[in-house]
Amino acid sequence: MAKQDYYDVLSVAKNASDNDIKKAYRKLAMKYHPDRNPGNKGAEERFKEVKEAYEILSDTQKRAAYDQYGRSGVDPNMGVASAQGFGGFSDAFGDIFGDIFGQAGGGSRRAGTQSYHGADLRYSMEISLEQAAHGYSTQIRVPNWTSCQVCYGAGAKPGTKPEACPTCHGQGQVRVSQGFFSIQQTCSKCHGIGTHIPDPCTYCHGDGKIKETKTLEVKIPAGIDDGMRIRSSGNGEPGINNGPNGDLYVEIHIKPHTVFERDGNDLHCQMPIAFTTAVLGGEIEVPTLSGKACFTVPEGTQSSKTFCLRGKGIKGLRSSLPGDLYVHVQVETPVKLTDTQRDLLRQFEKSLVEGGARHSPQSKSWFDRVKSFFE
Ligand SMILES: [Zn+2]
Ligand SMILES: [Zn+2]
Repeated sequence: MAKQDYYDVLSVAKNASDNDIKKAYRKLAMKYHPDRNPGNKGAEERFKEVKEAYEILSDTQKRAAYDQYGRSGVDPNMGVASAQGFGGFSDAFGDIFGDIFGQAGGGSRRAGTQSYHGADLRYSMEISLEQAAHGYSTQIRVPNWTSCQVCYGAGAKPGTKPEACPTCHGQGQVRVSQGFFSIQQTCSKCHGIGTHIPDPCTYCHGDGKIKETKTLEVKIPAGIDDGMRIRSSGNGEPGINNGPNGDLYVEIHIKPHTVFERDGNDLHCQMPIAFTTAVLGGEIEVPTLSGKACFTVPEGTQSSKTFCLRGKGIKGLRSSLPGDLYVHVQVETPVKLTDTQRDLLRQFEKSLVEGGARHSPQSKSWFDRVKSFFE
């Protein structure tokens, strides 16, 4: 049977982040885990595929090799990849599966002591180019969990108490035989907590916590670029069993600007100039992120000419000097002329013809090239 693409196995996009891959893996591994599907060969096969895909895609080097060469880049039979079987299982997801596979040799563990890191949250924020360049402070509303005021976090209806889980007798773990081995695994009824709530609190539905929102101050540093993330430590989802909270990531998106285009720390802008300014030279006003600046256009400026204003770009997060501003000038042809203006231009045109090719060096060299092309 042809093997499926690893990204398809995990149902993630080719450019999925490490976190997305981890999440997809967890979801599928929970679904197809043999302990949850006893005797189901199909689920076991799926579980193996999911595990293999995760082993490759969660490893930066192996993922790069897979992206470039496909399975032959990472096939264990080709001698590149390593870590087959349950042994490769304990790293990134030890928090979820460590209790299943890490303790296969036995050894008792007290129920309810396993604590899990809360999930990270992502918040997408759109800001303007000016805000990105100068820095910006704002407030955002994010989810917040507080202990239930009715049951004081216990999850049990006031007057009742959580009981020892009837399945694992409060151990949080059950022992099952698999072939020659007897392994311990997390109790599926209480998920390792060891307790069971017969009469849940009606206010928090037995969760012991209530989801609310809180206001957070976010300081965006000057120079931030599109796609960068700011971490707010501990403001993610709460940990389980006193585990640490996850983090909140604020992902920055910069709105397109009406005048400037950003390229790293440099800025570019298109600037129409009068036909007479281009011919005679003169001072023009150029927009910059910190107000207007004056700039002298030299006599005889051609259309599409680019001028660089040093230091008028953006000072990046890690750079000591700001970038530059590139002004691309476009000479504008005057329209809606009066008869007098047309007459003046005709006189002017006549004087150009009398002056010969020296007034139009570009046209002269172009016609010379056309001439040599035909000869
Ligand atoms: Zn409650
Ligand atoms: Zn239990």
